[in-house]
Amino acid sequence: MDILVIGGGGREHAIVWALSKSPKAGTIYCAPGNAGIGQLAECVPIAVSEFEKLAAFAVEKQVGLIVVGPDDPLADGIVDAFDETGIPVFGPRKNAAEIEGSKTFMKDLLHKYSIPTAAYAKFDDYESALAYLRQQGAPIVVKADGLAAGKGVTVARTLEEAEQALSDIMQSKVFGDAGSRVVIEEFLEGQEMSILAFVDGETVKPMSAAQDHKPAYDDDRGPNTGGMGTYSPLPHIQPSIIEEAIETIIKPTAKAMVAEGRPFRGVLFAGLMISPDGRPKTIEFNARFGDPETQVVLPRLKTDLLEVFLSAVNGTLADLELEWSDEAAVCVILASGGYPASYPKGIAITGLEDEQDSTIVFHAGTARDAEGTWRTNGGRVLGVVGLGTDIASARAKAYERAEGITFEGKFNRTDIALKALR
Ligand code: AMP
Repeated sequence: MDILVIGGGGREHAIVWALSKSPKAGTIYCAPGNAGIGQLAECVPIAVSEFEKLAAFAVEKQVGLIVVGPDDPLADGIVDAFDETGIPVFGPRKNAAEIEGSKTFMKDLLHKYSIPTAAYAKFDDYESALAYLRQQGAPIVVKADGLAAGKGVTVARTLEEAEQALSDIMQSKVFGDAGSRVVIEEFLEGQEMSILAFVDGETVKPMSAAQDHKPAYDDDRGPNTGGMGTYSPLPHIQPSIIEEAIETIIKPTAKAMVAEGRPFRGVLFAGLMISPDGRPKTIEFNARFGDPETQVVLPRLKTDLLEVFLSAVNGTLADLELEWSDEAAVCVILASGGYPASYPKGIAITGLEDEQDSTIVFHAGTARDAEGTWRTNGGRVLGVVGLGTDIASARAKAYERAEGITFEGKFNRTDIALKALR
């Protein structure tokens, strides 16, 4: 079966990599893909926002399945736009993707169905939001309602910071329309973890849990990024806590979406905070695979990913048992100097060909020039994954391989997964 994967980052590289292992997979197309993905799939120069062109391409190539990676096209209704093609799509419809696309929708849903999350208030006018902030005091969390490339959230330690964030969102409109509304949320203390699950309606098949590192620099310092590294599983988190999160948050949310007439099909990704007394609460939902969580989760999935996608689109996910490898995985992101602010592109990368056992390099932002030289083409350039019997050995593998890859300005965090070892 030929497949079209939509997206072009490290997450999509991991999806294409896993699909390419399936004996049932024929040609894999990836739009737009990237240079690394091009080693496994045929990259198609159509942007993720060009729904009509993507649909026409899928029909022309008679693909048997479409898989959507990124959040923006999902929020904009790409899955609905493929309806006329009759081709099955793995990904939520627009009305279900709203669980990520609108924080007010998500918070109201969780509130209505008594699903654990931080206390909140929502506002669409600046003055009342400001009054509420002043009444609540810091620490407090200010969130733009809509998608803001992962940058719409400020965890404010002081009231001043909170007021600044509110003014940026609602007065300066730094996130445009995404900031016409805000959610102001209780600050939750604790450890973060992510649980991703394959979902089809009420059927939930959880994946192994993962932890991301959002700030750019070691010890969680510096500006927030799309994610600087991940690891899975989480040996320092009790299985009962993960179980509780699945039973009290993920399954009830999938059920609530069905009850609301917005059945979710795709990957439901819960960002959770585990309080010091061990209770998980929801921070956010994403309507797709995480990036870079996917890079550590899919290499550990023993079940054929194409089978999983097909079961989800055929409504037989309930009959499938997911099998996981006992190995641990650690992913270290190599970023361009300057990221997450501005950074140069087109810098030569060396060391990519020196493959090492138990490592995989997923490309997030690379290109290849006419001479075949690999070049940087994004803020996050590569995700270097190490696999091992435990987190410590997976981590050592990842860093060893990461050190052998160089490009001018390259930087990475050096403390990925240390939390699991302390
Ligand atoms: P979000 O985009 O909603 O996931 O938020 C981005 C990051 O902000 C999260 O990964 C958390 O680290 C932090 N965050 C969001 N909401 C809260 C909260 N209520 N309390 C503490 N930290 C939060």
